Amino acid sequence: MWNFETEPEFQRKLDWIEQFVRERIEPLDYLFPKDETYNTRNAALMSIMAPLKAEVRAQGLWACHLPPAMGGGGWGQLKLALMNELLGRSFFAPTIFGTAAPDTGNAEILAHFGTEAQKARYLKPLMDGEIVSCFSMTEPQGGADPNVFTCRADQTTTGWVLRGEKWFASNARWADFLIVMAVSDTTTAIHHGASMFIVPIDAPGLEFVRNTGMAFEHPEHGAHAYLRFNDVELTNDHLLGKAGEAFKIAQTRLGGGRVHHAMRTVGLARRAFDAICERAQSRYTQGSRLADKQLVQDTIAEAWMQLEQFRLLVIQTAWKIDKLNDYKQVRGDIAAVKVLSERVMVDIASKAIHLHGALGVSNEMLFGEWLLWGHALGLADGPSEVHKLTLAKQLLRAQPSADAAFPSQHIPSGAVRAAEQYAAHLRLPGHRRGWVPAVG
Ligand SMILES: Cc1cc2nc3c(=O)[nH]c(=O)nc-3n(C[C@H](O)[C@H](O)[C@H](O)COP(=O)(O)OP(=O)(O)OC[C@H]3O[C@@H](n4cnc5c(N)ncnc54)[C@H](O)[C@@H]3O)c2cc1C
Repeated sequence: MWNFETEPEFQRKLDWIEQFVRERIEPLDYLFPKDETYNTRNAALMSIMAPLKAEVRAQGLWACHLPPAMGGGGWGQLKLALMNELLGRSFFAPTIFGTAAPDTGNAEILAHFGTEAQKARYLKPLMDGEIVSCFSMTEPQGGADPNVFTCRADQTTTGWVLRGEKWFASNARWADFLIVMAVSDTTTAIHHGASMFIVPIDAPGLEFVRNTGMAFEHPEHGAHAYLRFNDVELTNDHLLGKAGEAFKIAQTRLGGGRVHHAMRTVGLARRAFDAICERAQSRYTQGSRLADKQLVQDTIAEAWMQLEQFRLLVIQTAWKIDKLNDYKQVRGDIAAVKVLSERVMVDIASKAIHLHGALGVSNEMLFGEWLLWGHALGLADGPSEVHKLTLAKQLLRAQPSADAAFPSQHIPSGAVRAAEQYAAHLRLPGHRRGWVPAVG
């Protein structure tokens, strides 16, 4: 059964979220840089966000991605997708709704693999929004290929010692703890030889080489840490899950998160699209409004079609996850929406920049930040090329190879088979392809 409608009761929740995001959260985009959303030491921002978070909780909308046993709504991916579309309009909205990455993924893996003591120490305050966390896997020499990782965890009589470097560890500077992947067994392949550790931010030997920023950011404002582990000693209760399970653990956090990011991208791209339309209606040049010029109309039509196609694919992916109750079968679809997130955001943010002229490239609009964010979407959590490989492999697995020298859609071979199938009819007169053999 196909149905594109939203239940009225859930639509009422979405209406509340939309109004709340537009009227109460979007103003924060004009006051604070986006990465400040994680800065629990920013007193002004925290005092604005605290009552907003309380309103979200009062509506029963806090941390809805979690299963009911952990206090979430148990809504399923389709409803979460529709919600995330609205949250995507502002970088502050996910934090205010308790659904900001990487905390969401970290909470998921702590819930699945953490001991009771780890859950009490780290998971509870994380889910309550009292602290923020960091997930650290990438190293300076490479992020897309874990085979090049060298950050080591060596076992001692009392626990573990971490040695090495990590790179682009988002929000480490605001985090209470890091979840760090390290090579713990060099005698086996990395997929079985890496372990996951919870590293408290004040662990002796943890060095911040620097906080790297995004392009155009002031060096002091960077939120992506270059970290060095100088013989960081950890007791055994800092190991998350079992030794050698790092990849199994990491996989747990990625499935739903990618769909949420894709749907947030729909929301942010829609905000850019709204700006394009407003500009086209408002700007008058060379005898008419931009909206009256056919090349501008082409831009608007192309942007809308691209956005709606993307939105439908994300929603279908979320729907498939719910229907099959399985991420593995939907891996290819998830990879596709991850790749498209970059493309759609970059294309629509670029159009918004262009149609706003000099103002568009200036620091008086948010478009430049959104454009760069589009490029970041094609890198964070793996570059687009790697996700295309995942999609292509899944598509190819579903397609058998031809069992003869010619392909299965080869006309002469197909005509022989079809002529046998419809032999009785081919005795009657009628035009047909020349390959059809004569029927006696
Ligand atoms: C905004 C942002 C936040 C991030 N936050 C975190 C974080 O919190 N924690 C963390 O651990 N990491 C984080 N990262 C790092 C991210 O995971 C890596 O950037 C990503 O895995 C790519 O690794 P790399 O930067 O080393 O690029 P590389 O691996 O060097 O890849 C560079 C380019 O090479 C090409 N390429 C790579 N592999 C292939 C291939 N197999 N086939 C064809 N071409 C290929 C692609 O064009 C790719 O973009 C973040 C990145 C960004 C942009």
